[in-house]
Amino acid sequence: MLNLIIDALAAGRVTEEVPGPRAGWAAAAVGRFDLASSAPEALRAAIELCPAEAIAVERSGGKAVAVIDDGRCVQCGLCAEGDAAAFKNVHEEPAMGRSAASLRRRFPLEGFEGASLGPDFALDAHDRVSREGARLAEVVLKRFRRSLHVRHLDAGGCNGCDWELNQLQAPQYDVQRFGVDFVASPRHADVLLVTGVMTRNLELALVRTLDAMPRPRLVVAMGACAISGGVFGTSYASRGGADRVVAVDGYLGGCPPRPWAMIRALRMVLE
Ligand code: SF4
Ligand code: SF4
Repeated sequence: MLNLIIDALAAGRVTEEVPGPRAGWAAAAVGRFDLASSAPEALRAAIELCPAEAIAVERSGGKAVAVIDDGRCVQCGLCAEGDAAAFKNVHEEPAMGRSAASLRRRFPLEGFEGASLGPDFALDAHDRVSREGARLAEVVLKRFRRSLHVRHLDAGGCNGCDWELNQLQAPQYDVQRFGVDFVASPRHADVLLVTGVMTRNLELALVRTLDAMPRPRLVVAMGACAISGGVFGTSYASRGGADRVVAVDGYLGGCPPRPWAMIRALRMVLE
């Protein structure tokens, strides 16, 4: 225990500075990873290292493609470590889409030259939240004229996603200023945000929460666990992703996703 405390103090802060630019360990370790080398040995090493089984090589039309499933990736960075790294952190754009399948990125394995930095890499968290929030506020005003009401349900993850969600409502991010209100009752909610792996014990709670929401209503699966089961996968205690139990309208990858990406995902399902 003492060693853990000493290690934690020595590591310092490893989460992002809010608001402000990210630096050091946090800047290097979190993000979406792209294929950097199609060398078979490097790919094989990455597939073996990946704890979430997010990387695979598949055959499509007689050709080999590497597949990175952002709905499974927990952004641990293991695939981008080492001399023979097949992957690298190239941008921080969140992975999101209308279906879990759309989060599966494919890289042809012939003639792949790697990827370049995304245009948003240099933006700090404060800029991102302001920019994403302003866009969300426009959509909320257009679609609802008043506030968007959100109900959160933790289906059983590690609580990492929930902590980020809490930050979204805390003074530094203050998502209420963009017209988003988190409500205690599903009867007042327009959107249901599901975090965590779909544990069997909470299946009924999810179904009943959704049943209690007025129509039209939307469901967003937030984080690798809620999309695919993440590192927990499926087991006697878990069904995997939330869409095994209810219909899902939007998927946001990450482990956990960052607060500004959550704002963008809300906009995505409203548009
Ligand atoms: S960053 Fe994602 S793809 Fe890479 S090893 Fe970790 S979970 Fe697997
Ligand atoms: S996606 Fe990651 S941070 Fe979120 S609940 Fe699952 S393990 Fe925790």
